[in-house]
Amino acid sequence: LWANCLSQLQDQVSSNDLNMWLRPLQAEVNNNNLITLYASNVFVKNWVETHFLAQIIKTAQALSQNPELLIKLVEGVKPAAPKTLSAPITENMTHSASAVNSQQDSEQIEFRTNLNANYVFENFVGGKSNQLARSAGLKVAKKPGDVLTNPLFLYGGSGLGKTHLLHAIGNAILADNPNTRIVYIHSERYVQQMVKALRSERIEQFKKFYRSLDVLLIDDIQFFAGKDGTQEEFFHTFNSLFEGGRQIILTSDKLPKGIDNFTERLTSRFGVGLTLQIEPPELETRVAILMKKAEERHIDLPEEVAFFIGQKIRANVRELEGALNRVQANTEFTGRPITVDFAREVLKDMLALQEKLVTIENIQKEVAEYYRIKVSDLKSKSRLRSLARPRQLAMALAKELTNRSFPEIGKNFGDRDHTTVMYACDKIAELREQDANLQEDWLNLVRILSA
Ligand code: ADP
Ligand code: MG
Repeated sequence: LWANCLSQLQDQVSSNDLNMWLRPLQAEVNNNNLITLYASNVFVKNWVETHFLAQIIKTAQALSQNPELLIKLVEGVKPAAPKTLSAPITENMTHSASAVNSQQDSEQIEFRTNLNANYVFENFVGGKSNQLARSAGLKVAKKPGDVLTNPLFLYGGSGLGKTHLLHAIGNAILADNPNTRIVYIHSERYVQQMVKALRSERIEQFKKFYRSLDVLLIDDIQFFAGKDGTQEEFFHTFNSLFEGGRQIILTSDKLPKGIDNFTERLTSRFGVGLTLQIEPPELETRVAILMKKAEERHIDLPEEVAFFIGQKIRANVRELEGALNRVQANTEFTGRPITVDFAREVLKDMLALQEKLVTIENIQKEVAEYYRIKVSDLKSKSRLRSLARPRQLAMALAKELTNRSFPEIGKNFGDRDHTTVMYACDKIAELREQDANLQEDWLNLVRILSA
């Protein structure tokens, strides 16, 4: 099965990755539902786990036509004598819900800040895209509970630093005043805790706990969508904290009013303090982030390589980190120095994906879909505002996201002159400053196109 699996994976991962990471693994079939893969060291194990395990499991399940098949990665050498075929799957492998619950039901809600000490302001790189959110965060850290910034609501796409910033604020508050009762919690975890409290008739304790805090940090509040009971309960907790002058900070992928299945009385509360967006970082910030992360991890990353990666990978910071991880692993493994050519080689598949995605054709398709018009409208001569504006936006996106020249872009938009494209780019740049709706459209499309 493993050999078949490897040959299937050949189509999904680069041969470089296949040879370096996957072929050296030793497979042991434990039983019909479990395969153990042995990695030669913990570094390989972690790397395979984070980069390939999900794909391996999917492929193996499809090949064996067994949706329950699990794959376990361990560090070590495959034992010579095969184990008996009846080896049971351990509980923590199957993530059995009842096992987890029965263990946790005996727990009280104990006070823990849940703050991650690695996420601090010192390693949060500032730039135009996050400047407002960052400085508001610093302000809140100095003066938690201030009416101007309570609640603080931070929103933006995935991988742009919301969670990092949330922890940074929490850590800064705690550093100033170690006795602050402060809790960071992801909204999904909050829902779980509440459900458990209800089931074990400890809801009063749950309420008391959250209403006794000085600072409450809730991450990804959009997960409350559609959970009416949680929203109801949180509404009262929110009010109780707010009225007591306690600081609340929330993050979400959207504006409060943009989250579906959310009660209006709650979203309107979210907006009474300060609401700020974190945008995708621009090139200089992407480069600065790469340099900062490299320095932290003692990677010798030349600036021109950071620039190369920053230029190519635009979607979000998480992707940038992924690229840096890949470069780091390959340089440690091969002992080769980091150069632009080296980066281009080890990131080949990531870069191909980016370049394949963002073509003029693709931009036209997405823009047409977004505005519910036809691709041919983007190439037509019509001056109707409802067509001309999306057309200008599409041209500006083409300039921003592809390496095509003004004349090339014009040619692809119904044989227009390059000055028309230049005008469109200027116009859109101007409108993005003045018209919040257009700016929102722009950001949405950039996100869609670089996802
Ligand atoms: P989000 O919560 O918005 O999805 P995260 O806060 O989890 O994003 O950020 C993803 C990764 O990118 C984290 O490792 C974080 O440290 C890093 N990151 C994001 N923004 C920055 C920044 N401005 N400076 C340094 N690291 C950043
Ligand atoms: Mg997050």
